[in-house]
Amino acid sequence: MPENSNKPAILDRSVAHLKGIGPAKANLLGEELHIHTLNDLLHAYPFRYVDRTKFHRIIDIIPNEGSVQVKGVLKILSVKGEGRAKRLVGRLRDESGAALELVWFRGINVLQNMFVVGEEYICYGPVLEFNGKLSITHPEMELAKRAPADSSVFEPVYSSTEKLNRRGLDHRGRRKLIRALFDELKAEDLPEIIPNYLMKELRLMPRAKALYTIHLPPNQAQLDGARRRMKFEELFLLQMRLLQLKVKREGQVAGYKFESIGTIFNKFFSTKLPFELTGAQKRVLKEIRADLGRGVQMNRLLQGDVGSGKTMVGLMSMLMALDNGFQACMMAPTEILAYQHYEGISEYVEGLDINVAFLSGSIKGKARKKILEELINGEIDILLGTHALIEPWVEFKNLGLAIIDEQHRFGVKQRAKLWVKNKPYPPHVLLMTATPIPRTLAMTAYGDLDVSVIDELPPGRTPIQTVHFTEHRRQRVFGRIREEIAKGRQAYIVYPLIEENEKLDLLALEEAYDEMRFKFPPPEYQISIVHGKMKPDVKDAEMQRFKRGETNIMMATTVIEVGVNVPNATIMVIVHTERFGLSQLHQLRGRVGRGAEESYCILLSSVKLSRESKERIRTMVETTDGFKIAEADLRLRGPGMLDGTQQSGVLQMRIADLANDGRILAVARDRAKDILERDPKLEGPEFANLKAHMDKHMLGVKGWGRIS
Ligand code: ADP
Ligand code: MG
Repeated sequence: MPENSNKPAILDRSVAHLKGIGPAKANLLGEELHIHTLNDLLHAYPFRYVDRTKFHRIIDIIPNEGSVQVKGVLKILSVKGEGRAKRLVGRLRDESGAALELVWFRGINVLQNMFVVGEEYICYGPVLEFNGKLSITHPEMELAKRAPADSSVFEPVYSSTEKLNRRGLDHRGRRKLIRALFDELKAEDLPEIIPNYLMKELRLMPRAKALYTIHLPPNQAQLDGARRRMKFEELFLLQMRLLQLKVKREGQVAGYKFESIGTIFNKFFSTKLPFELTGAQKRVLKEIRADLGRGVQMNRLLQGDVGSGKTMVGLMSMLMALDNGFQACMMAPTEILAYQHYEGISEYVEGLDINVAFLSGSIKGKARKKILEELINGEIDILLGTHALIEPWVEFKNLGLAIIDEQHRFGVKQRAKLWVKNKPYPPHVLLMTATPIPRTLAMTAYGDLDVSVIDELPPGRTPIQTVHFTEHRRQRVFGRIREEIAKGRQAYIVYPLIEENEKLDLLALEEAYDEMRFKFPPPEYQISIVHGKMKPDVKDAEMQRFKRGETNIMMATTVIEVGVNVPNATIMVIVHTERFGLSQLHQLRGRVGRGAEESYCILLSSVKLSRESKERIRTMVETTDGFKIAEADLRLRGPGMLDGTQQSGVLQMRIADLANDGRILAVARDRAKDILERDPKLEGPEFANLKAHMDKHMLGVKGWGRIS
């Protein structure tokens, strides 16, 4: 039965419609939690549940092991300290006889009047240990006698804010609201949207029941079923939308059809290609070849770890464009990287009568004018450069393929500017990234694009050996650097630079430089130094000096991260490793191990490390596989924090968790694909509710391949 669109649906009404909430509170819910309508309220799921029957004994609590629930009598409550250290401190003693300190830094006045010494409370929060005392800061508190005594032992807990708490919309208030909501709703207000055959096949809990159960679960088994159902729904709807966008774009945006692989490609392949392509490179080239022949604009993301050979795939794709009478370009985020591509590619195609040019902001005057002329009259076949390429005054005669290297460094708008570089059709677009992201994330963040993966490194690489040293073994590390330099090799030493602390970091870098000059004195040793505060030309000159082998040590902040290629550098020391993120460490490490020599990466860190830092370092020592590292990063930091996904708005999920729900996601995408292949417009009666729901709730979701 399709949703009736004539009658305003009850779920569209304001939360003010419910008993026990007036316009003021309703506004507050909107401001604080973006809950405006009953539908918003319904889909703001609890973030955890409290089993009201289980309490920790204070005497048994081990600190730093996460949150606990305790029940005890509030013995003392007083304000301590001054200024920023001012706090409200309570003492809670339970039947075990031990006591726990409760501390609040905010809302002191309100809370002091709210809590009653001598009453029994249920407290919840993470327990830490300070000066031998157990304490919880800002615990959730509830009077034991007010804890609901109904049959449900699973109490939902909702996210809240201090403002809401003060106005009675704490988790207890929210429970009342949600009960009031379910009193109002009828079964037909929550129609099933997942097609019947899928419900049966996947054995999903019906929608109305799942929504009720997720808020007010009678037991763990029912809750699990409800969560599984709502996770599937969330992922399924998102995949439906992303795939719809893809189908739609492919239907609307025609592209140039590259009919043939011709003389240039074949000549390069048989006379110039300096190595055998890896299986993964061959597979990806086939995928690209198929795309380019379809007459639909290509929008493909190519993921491949550092050193996996993406440039060659890019170059050979460009040759396909040339063979069909088109120009091609490749854009890189920095001048160094772009110029490196220019040099490398010019060398590869030497003698093939291909005109390769380079353009960046620093190419000016006559030189620039010449390039612009040759571009528009078609003399230039391949243009390499920085974001200067997308400036409006750069016009091509006939651009057929645009490649963006290290795509995550560019914004959506910049990418969109490439689309208008040819008419009547936009050029094909190939995005390349060396930031591997886990499959689940790729399917979501880039769900409306085609994704190719190079998951194999060229043969003959000696794997990089990674070791972890703590600060007090620096001298040994210096010794290792000397050994490498004695063999004629070069070394990177990388320092962190975080924005809030830029000045201090620079100072530290200068101090380190003095120390290094002392430990590695000239003339035997020459040191380059590069950091973000340098002028670009000075920075470039220093990089070039290192590249040419005139210096043996490169001291740098993370500016060397992107794509710099110095095969003779065989050792990298990362200082303050604990201050880098996993993917950043992985990118950095990729700067060594580029030649045939055995390479080393030394992770220096302080002795005391957080659990997360330890986990990051352990991951780095154990594997060099970028995809494994990305999986670990996802587990540690969650989606949306990962490099290369920040621009995606589709990662904020209500219930699904991309680190753990990979299997549900795979099924969801699979089924969504299947449905759209059979019935692209969802015209069949079994999809009527699904279609109505999508049209109402999913149109706001924008894909990644959108133009501006
Ligand atoms: P990335 O994927 O990081 O951009 P590059 O394209 O810079 O990697 O390739 C890294 C190095 O590997 C280059 O020196 C390149 O010439 C070399 N290379 C690429 N493909 C192969 C291959 N199939 N066999 C051997 N070496 C290769
Ligand atoms: Mg590259």
